[in-house]
Amino acid sequence: AKSVRLDKLLANLGYGSRREIQGLARMGGIRLDGAELGDAGGRIPLDPDLPARLTVEDEPLDPLPGLCLMLHKPLGVTCSHKEAGPLVYSLLPERWRRREPPLSTVGRLDKETSGLLLLTDDGALLHRIISPKANVAKRYQVTLARPLDGSEAAALASGTLMLEGEDRPLLPVAMEARDAIHCAVTLTEGRYHQVRRMFAALGNHVEALHRDRVGALDMPEDLAAGEFRVLDAAGIAAVF
Ligand code: URA
Repeated sequence: AKSVRLDKLLANLGYGSRREIQGLARMGGIRLDGAELGDAGGRIPLDPDLPARLTVEDEPLDPLPGLCLMLHKPLGVTCSHKEAGPLVYSLLPERWRRREPPLSTVGRLDKETSGLLLLTDDGALLHRIISPKANVAKRYQVTLARPLDGSEAAALASGTLMLEGEDRPLLPVAMEARDAIHCAVTLTEGRYHQVRRMFAALGNHVEALHRDRVGALDMPEDLAAGEFRVLDAAGIAAVF
């Protein structure tokens, strides 16, 4: 298996500087299979089962790089590393915000949109999911300001709907009405503010927006707003 220097691995996972990690090792704070690792300068095999075997101050090691999370994004937080105001990253454990490579959101949800958001530190995975060629379907539950008039589903399915200021029509969007002011839409593109602008183009207005599915991955019913979960390989596979 690939091996890494223990101090480098832990520093990249946000546990501290290499010097701090060496101090921790000397104090007996790092154990592999229960045995103290007194020197953090040594190499250890980078096996997927390492988090189950290595403890730091008696806590299991954080997930290794190659991490993918699903987050139930609440309203009012921003999908950005740069902007001011509460960021989605503030919902993660503090140490995870210091990881290298950093976790990034897979695409974005508006500040005032809630729902299923993926985060990953895996650049290749990120590009596979958000590439225009990927065509990952995203489903949104929409609350409208005005009742549907019955024409919307056909207009969205036509592949001819134009958004204000654009010169290329939207790819077909599937719409299912729930009642007069609620519907679900499934899209494969992800244009800027797409759902809000789509309904503006249809003469309506989006009051509330919630994403509940990405690919074949549904938001778990027991994942409350603000909570996250680590995705395993099967979860990641469901996204495509
Ligand atoms: N469409 C929007 O308008 N906003 C989102 O957050 C996602 C899709």
